[in-house]
Amino acid sequence: MGRLARKLNQIEKDFYLSLGMVNDIARNFRAEMVAGQSGDSSLKMLHTFITPPTGQETGEFLAVDFGGTNVRIQLVELLGKGRYRIRKNHSVMLCDPAGSYDYTLECTSGEELFDFIVEQIVKLIDNKTHYFLGHTFSFPTKQIDPARAILINWTKEFKTAGTEGKEVTSLLENALKRKSIRNVQPLSIINDTTATLLTAAYGNDCANIGSICGTGHNTCYLEAAAGPVIINMESGNFNKFPLTTFDLVLNEASEQPNLQQLEKAVSGRYVGEIVRLIILDFVAEKMLFSRGINGIDEPFSIQAPEVSLMIRGNHKPDDLLDLAHWVGVKWCVKSPSADELIALRCIAQTVICRASRLIAATFLGVLQHIDPELKSRQVIGIDGSMFQNMPFFLQGILEIFSNIYEDKAANIVLKYIRDASGVGAAIAAARMKSLQVKG
Ligand code: BGC
Ligand code: MG
Repeated sequence: MGRLARKLNQIEKDFYLSLGMVNDIARNFRAEMVAGQSGDSSLKMLHTFITPPTGQETGEFLAVDFGGTNVRIQLVELLGKGRYRIRKNHSVMLCDPAGSYDYTLECTSGEELFDFIVEQIVKLIDNKTHYFLGHTFSFPTKQIDPARAILINWTKEFKTAGTEGKEVTSLLENALKRKSIRNVQPLSIINDTTATLLTAAYGNDCANIGSICGTGHNTCYLEAAAGPVIINMESGNFNKFPLTTFDLVLNEASEQPNLQQLEKAVSGRYVGEIVRLIILDFVAEKMLFSRGINGIDEPFSIQAPEVSLMIRGNHKPDDLLDLAHWVGVKWCVKSPSADELIALRCIAQTVICRASRLIAATFLGVLQHIDPELKSRQVIGIDGSMFQNMPFFLQGILEIFSNIYEDKAANIVLKYIRDASGVGAAIAAARMKSLQVKG
């Protein structure tokens, strides 16, 4: 075996999670769920005050979805029993790829960020209608009630100043006031995992778990003993699993070291960076692209869609031509060899395989908590770009389930939930509106 193959083997070993390890991680996760109820845990186990939907929620609502790569404003019409229509949709990036603005940076204030969000709302509304607004805010928050929540800390490398510790609905209301908008009334604020679970459960009684596998990662579930009520675990912060040296380097350089360890191993914001750090190591040891490579030193210069391209290519899965072309354009590498391209593919697959197994382990932990014998059908509602687009991601999770549950694995359904944030925001707002009418 050559040096390159030996080093690849070593990387695969370092990242490999055996079934035994997955079981241990699931057990740790379940233990952290229990510990989190009294505080000392990497899981926040946040009470959301949100109960499952009845399916009777109807009406038209303005939904704001904020917390990933885009901010999205939608006009959502709920028709009952899982049916809905997106009547209007406007989406814009929080960080302009052309570089003219970036609302996630430390030099931006919370006021500027929410002014920007309100500017996007203005593009969708008229001034004659009264709008009830549901907000999906995808960060850890301490919920005061279903309408108000305090941002605990930013995640996903957001750094916007003067926002942590603030009550988010007030930030939005103040921005609406600054623009003299009086016909938009915020009614609710929820996490995107809660939105996913609400949307999944709107038309399906078996949905007890909601998860986001996207720019960030997190899972919530329906805790029967407490209501039932939805608990936002903030599982992206889970840390009872083995870390590689690459994880440690990434963590040290990140905006919030030691927080969000699971998220840093599995989510779209970070998987490209892990892949880059591994490639960098190969380059430093002259095992890849020793003829020269440009730009590999730049942090976060590999993004999740590029990881997906390394694995699958753009067009034909078995073809390395796409990858060769991409390597040429990206790093000015001239005529990469087949071995080098296959090595890239192998590195990307290794990182994604671990990500999907880690997530499977956390789902197992939740399932063991809510339905240890797996007696009923369990629908896990999932949204996010990793789940939707990353090759082998879903496959990796299913593989673990079928290894552990064997035939019973058929009881678990991983369901992609379309429009989760917008529809969930609308459902939460509809609940609040009906309470107001009754009250
Ligand atoms: C946040 C969670 C969110 C997840 C997915 C994480 O960074 O802490 O609140 O649900 O990203 O968007
Ligand atoms: Mg989102």
